[in-house]
Formats: sequence, C-alpha cells, structure tokens
Amino acid sequence: MVAVVDGEGRFCWPWLRESLVEAQAQVRGHSLLVHGAPGDGAWEFGLALGMAQLCESKGARRPCGHCGACNLVNGWSHPDFHWLMPQDTALQRGVPVQVDERRKPSKQIRIDEVRAAIDACTSTTGRGQGRALVIFPGEAMNAIAASALLKTLEEPPAGTRIVICAAEPARLLPTIRSRCQRWTLPRVAPAVARAWLGEQGIPGPDVLLAACNGHPLQALAMHEAGMTAERWTALPERVAQGDAAALAGAATPVLLEAMAKLCHDAMAAAVGGQPRFFPGSKWTAGLSLRRLSDWHRQLQKLQRHADHPWNEALLVDAVVAEARSALQPATSGRRTDNGALATLDP
Ligand SMILES: [Zn+2]
Repeated sequence: MVAVVDGEGRFCWPWLRESLVEAQAQVRGHSLLVHGAPGDGAWEFGLALGMAQLCESKGARRPCGHCGACNLVNGWSHPDFHWLMPQDTALQRGVPVQVDERRKPSKQIRIDEVRAAIDACTSTTGRGQGRALVIFPGEAMNAIAASALLKTLEEPPAGTRIVICAAEPARLLPTIRSRCQRWTLPRVAPAVARAWLGEQGIPGPDVLLAACNGHPLQALAMHEAGMTAERWTALPERVAQGDAAALAGAATPVLLEAMAKLCHDAMAAAVGGQPRFFPGSKWTAGLSLRRLSDWHRQLQKLQRHADHPWNEALLVDAVVAEARSALQPATSGRRTDNGALATLDP
C-alpha cells in the first residue's frame, strides 16, 4: 500500500507540491525524465505523475488520491500502472516484486524486466485511461536494458506516460536523455524539511538532516532504521572508543557511508574546520591528518567492494577498530598494524 495524497487531498511531500502541479500543467511529452534525489522523493514524484495519468477525477491536475484508479494504484493493482525497479530496491521500499528465492535480489533493472514492461504497455488498457510506466532509478538500467527501451520512449503507445527518475541523469545513455522531457525537482528548503520531520514526530530533525545532506526522506529512513539523532551525535565519540555496538545491525552500505562522513568531519576537525555531518558531536583534539588520510584511503577501497558478501558483524568490528585507531590524538598510542606509519606519525 502506498499513499501519495494525504487526507486533505494534498501531495504528501510539501516541498514537491508546487512542482507537481507545474509539471502536470507544463509537461507536453509522454516520456519524462525526473531529475531528483531519492532522499527528496524522486520516486514518490514519479509515482504521482504516473498516478495522475490514470486518475479518473475530472479536471485533476494531480492525482486525486480517492477515485477508483487512484485506489488501485495505491494498492499496486491498477492493470495499467507498471513500474520497473531493481529487486533489492523494491524489497527495501515495500514495493511488490517477484524474487527468485534461490538468487540474491538484483541491484539492476534487467532486460527481461524492461521487455515485460514494454509488452504490458502495448497491450489493451484495462480501464481505458491510458497507461503509466515509472522507472526508478533510471541509473539501474545497464546499457543493454536501456537500449531495449529506446523505441518505446520515442513512440510510446497512445495514452502512455513513461517516467524515468534519476539522481544523476549524466549516467543515463545520451539517447535516453534526448528522448525525454526533463523535469528537475527543486532543492528542499531546510526549514520545510525540518518542519516536515517534526510533524512526523522525529526528534532532532536538524541532526538527521545534517547527517543526510538535507534530504528529508533519507533522514526519515535513517531514523526508522534505528539511527536516531541521539545515536548519530554520539557516534564519533563511541567509535573513537572502539565501541562497535554503536553501529550494530547497520547494513554494509550504511556502515561505510557513516564511516566516510565520520572521516570527512574528523579531517575538518583536525584542521580547525566545521564538521558538516556531525555538527553537535565531540571531537578529540590533535587528530593526525596522516592517520586520517590513511583511513580515508582504506574506506574508499572498502566502498569499491561494498557489494562483496561480507560477514556484516565481522566487518563492523574491523571497520570500527580501524576508525578507533585513526581517531586517537597524534601524540597518544602508535599504530601496530603498519610499522612505517608508526614512525611517520607526527
Ligand atoms: Zn484519482
């Protein structure tokens, strides 16, 4: 079940309301490229555009949220509403998806899935209001899968709206970009994001927004995954003490992203700058830039292998041990895992 319209008939995400009305009024083509971050609601916006195409309320410039068609989309059962999403993204977002239990959920949109969606869009419509296909994220289509879509993008079946959501349109095939009308989502004003998180009952919205570069839906997801503002603020200190429980249960990409942000802010603190992701946290004085740079390189290496089937508990222990070592003052303790570094440290 998904609801994109609230009880008062408004689009649920206030920072995108105006943009949605404008898009409905101004978009002429049938193939659209929505440029926006997932954490700002790019998928939700694409969903609303698809839903608006099928909405049966007269004169609606946005989905009404309560007609027969909107209700069917809400329940993922509208016969003319289709979506393409990598299996693992769909599972994370609670979007219905067929998964082969014997295989790992795919991180890509596969060519057979693209072909099936095209077939569905060329069959007769169930409710006679056209069809919608929403693709999220567009970057998850590899070149072969994307090429299969080109002809349909150029000449969509009558009444079909295709919406591709992408945070980085430059990563799409140029031939995909050139066939779509682009719609760029506005940057979320911090005050709007803060107020909205407050309305959701989330404590410490400023901390979570800083942690997520200002993306409100990412901040909400972070809180829901158990990384509260309080826990986030305490993270630098706990990691510096080698407390692996501070990150217990974090999935590998979440763990590595948190460590990269911690490393960034530790470097800022080491040169007397302002932390960006952990504004209210305590930092040890006298951190060694050399150690932090070494840690940064290690993290980059790990991030390149984030898809490796790590034993997550062991990885947390190893990553926190490495971080602890990098977060000690330059004058205390010496690294024992790398003799060269022990003598080079200032
Ligand atoms: Zn409707």
